[in-house]
Amino acid sequence: MSGKPSVAIIGAGLSGLRLAQRLTPFMQVTVFEKSRGLGGRMSTRRTDGFAFDHGAQYFTARSADFEAFLRPYLENGTVQMWAPRLAQLSSAEAPPRWTAPRYVATPGMTGLAKAMAAELTVHRAVQVDRLVRSGHQWQMLDAEENDLGRFDWVISTAPSLQTARLMPPAFAGHPSLEAAVMQGCYSLMLGFDTPQMLNWDAAWVGQDPLAWIAVNTSKPGRPAQHCIVAQTSNRWADTNLERDQDTVRAELISAVEAVTGLAASTAAYISLHRWRYASVATPSATPFLIDPDNRLAAAGDWCGAGKVEAAFDSASALAEALEITLTG
Ligand SMILES: Cc1cc2nc3c(=O)[nH]c(=O)nc-3n(C[C@H](O)[C@H](O)[C@H](O)COP(=O)(O)OP(=O)(O)OC[C@H]3O[C@@H](n4cnc5c(N)ncnc54)[C@H](O)[C@@H]3O)c2cc1C
Repeated sequence: MSGKPSVAIIGAGLSGLRLAQRLTPFMQVTVFEKSRGLGGRMSTRRTDGFAFDHGAQYFTARSADFEAFLRPYLENGTVQMWAPRLAQLSSAEAPPRWTAPRYVATPGMTGLAKAMAAELTVHRAVQVDRLVRSGHQWQMLDAEENDLGRFDWVISTAPSLQTARLMPPAFAGHPSLEAAVMQGCYSLMLGFDTPQMLNWDAAWVGQDPLAWIAVNTSKPGRPAQHCIVAQTSNRWADTNLERDQDTVRAELISAVEAVTGLAASTAAYISLHRWRYASVATPSATPFLIDPDNRLAAAGDWCGAGKVEAAFDSASALAEALEITLTG
């Protein structure tokens, strides 16, 4: 026994892994992730030789803290700059100019999470279902009532609605969780056996259902097979979330064909992913949630702008507050 308080962190996305890194010096940290893969919404789908970043497309580093965090990963190539040829489709407007660098992880978006998790204890494919008080600790259970362990502190980094469902009624952060509003998104993945001739690598589409199309292959370190990711607007996704998924898929294939001229329906690999909680329409009122009396806390991109950097900021701010709470 090290004498350090124990903490269970729910989620191995950027928020959860950043918290785990920051808390390890003064807590016994265990991360639980319901998926087999790491990275949460910074993830990569690999199949049949194709690879798609079907969640976050790239990220920015506007704060000195995030820049400092990224530096070693930039130095060892885990994170690299992406400077695609940009276009604006379905509109006469010129594409926006990127003045700050855009970064991606390699060899896929999940690469950053894998590097961060290397020194951490992460239990994958374990979905936390509920927390039950056990003396001064919290016992965590899965849906089959299996005991996942007892911890002094529990922190959730799941999207706000999922965190609200996980946290016991005693958690003081419930009003803030309920105030946060997240939005959906669909990602259509198209893998081609032969390169497709396009004069852009990434494009905004100013016409529903589509918002963004990227040639995944144009990012550094990706496999050579030609992979395209098309994403819908959040507004369109939210009004079409419960529709038959085959119909949504067919509509998105037609939309890609109409705006790009690509023969999307002939792609060797076609897959649709529905994100219920992709980005943030209304963030929670505070940069993180902490309830020292109950030893519960929460953080995530929904505490801010709904971006990778917002996830980092929320986790870093919560880690700092916990350090003060625990070490005085
Ligand atoms: C389609 C899409 C496009 C995006 N594009 C961009 C972009 O271009 N630039 C940008 O900066 N950001 C983008 N984002 C947002 C960015 O991905 C997120 O802001 C960031 O990854 C959030 O990190 P997080 O750790 O807070 O949450 P998440 O990555 O969602 O991590 C939460 C983790 O908790 C796990 N979890 C949930 N419930 C449980 C449970 N009960 N038990 C165990 N584990 C659980 C989840 O599986 C997940 O891994 C995009 C997101 C999506 C979906």
